[in-house]
Amino acid sequence: MTDANKHGFTTTILHGDRQKPIEHGSLHKPIHTSVAFGYKDAHELAAVFQGRQPGYRYGRQGNPTVSALEDKITKMEQGVATVCFSTGMAAIGAVVQALLRKGDHVVSSSFLFGNTNSLWQTAGGLGIDVSFVDATDVCQVEAALTPSTRVVFVETIANPRTQVADLKRIGELCRDRGILYIVDNTMTSPYLFQPKKVGAGLVVNALTKSIGGHGNALGGALTDTGVFDWSGFPNIFDNYKRYPSAQWGMAQLRAKALRDFGGTLAPEAAHHIAVGAETMALRIERECQNAMALATMLSQDPRVAAVHYPGLPSHPQHGIASELFASYGGLFSFELKDGIDCFDYLNRLKIAIPASNLGDTRTLVIPVAHTIFYEMGAQRRASMGIAESLIRVSVGIEDTADLVEDFRQALDVA
Ligand SMILES: *Cc1c(COP(=O)(O)O)cnc(C)c1O
Repeated sequence: MTDANKHGFTTTILHGDRQKPIEHGSLHKPIHTSVAFGYKDAHELAAVFQGRQPGYRYGRQGNPTVSALEDKITKMEQGVATVCFSTGMAAIGAVVQALLRKGDHVVSSSFLFGNTNSLWQTAGGLGIDVSFVDATDVCQVEAALTPSTRVVFVETIANPRTQVADLKRIGELCRDRGILYIVDNTMTSPYLFQPKKVGAGLVVNALTKSIGGHGNALGGALTDTGVFDWSGFPNIFDNYKRYPSAQWGMAQLRAKALRDFGGTLAPEAAHHIAVGAETMALRIERECQNAMALATMLSQDPRVAAVHYPGLPSHPQHGIASELFASYGGLFSFELKDGIDCFDYLNRLKIAIPASNLGDTRTLVIPVAHTIFYEMGAQRRASMGIAESLIRVSVGIEDTADLVEDFRQALDVA
């Protein structure tokens, strides 16, 4: 099981399943659809329930096909354990359900995926106080900490404006204060960046995006990197303290979030995601190359007002992104000059598809303020740096020249 250190990223993903016994020599982990798991001896069933023996109990809390995917994600993140969920939001929601309590305080980046922003508002209604800060500046994070701060939450590259959090310094701050540091790695993916390296205790991945990569299955994951010392975390139920403290977080997440709330990843979805993950490195490399070509072309065109992509030297966090990430990702956003309507522009594109989702093989475009960030209103959009004309682009694996020509020709107003 140490091949993650010996072999490269893709070799490890492709051959990971064979580290465990393989059923009938099957090269793909089979899709196990059984909800129940039977035992010859009833004592064994009891031992599994009591955690004295490994095994499956009931499909809501675990399934062999899902476990195989969890092992792959753990290897990708070089972590110690992973719990998968039905969606990325179910994974982030699990943090609220399993790890936070009324009266707790969270410091979150204000540059966030819209639904995570909404989730923190929901948490506010449950008595969990959330402070939003500019996480590109560690001083703002530090200033927001209170004695009740349990979690600091950031995204690597924020969707859609691509701000890069001050990941390393926030990690040092959390380590010094003993605070759980949670990093949503969806926009970089474990191929470009492993948050463990900057001291994250938990890593979020929306498997729906780059890891599955084909827009055909929803899924999410939380990975324990092994960095955080759970023995000092005040919200662990006594029940889970019978395990070594390194396992407390995952044990409580699996029971309190997965079992009690039931946001379980389906085995069929786990299979789609695992197959998608096999080509993840190849896809992401092409996506990064395409994104750089498109962002460069648009940034040089006088009809474009702004391009937000960490790969451009003009990006405010280009330096941090270059230092921490293997490349700059497949997502960028841009604003057209006044006088060019963003809807007209999108309708002139012939290859890119107006659609929500990202990390797909196909290039997808969306007018952010009118769709995914519509509900929050103009004021909050402005505070997050979201211009009304902002277009988000999730770059696919199409041939580079075709994409560049598509985005260029759409600028030509008749
Ligand atoms: C899409 C996304 C999520 C949520 O994932 P779903 O599978 O759609 O629930 C969370 N964080 C980020 C950064 C995302 O892009």
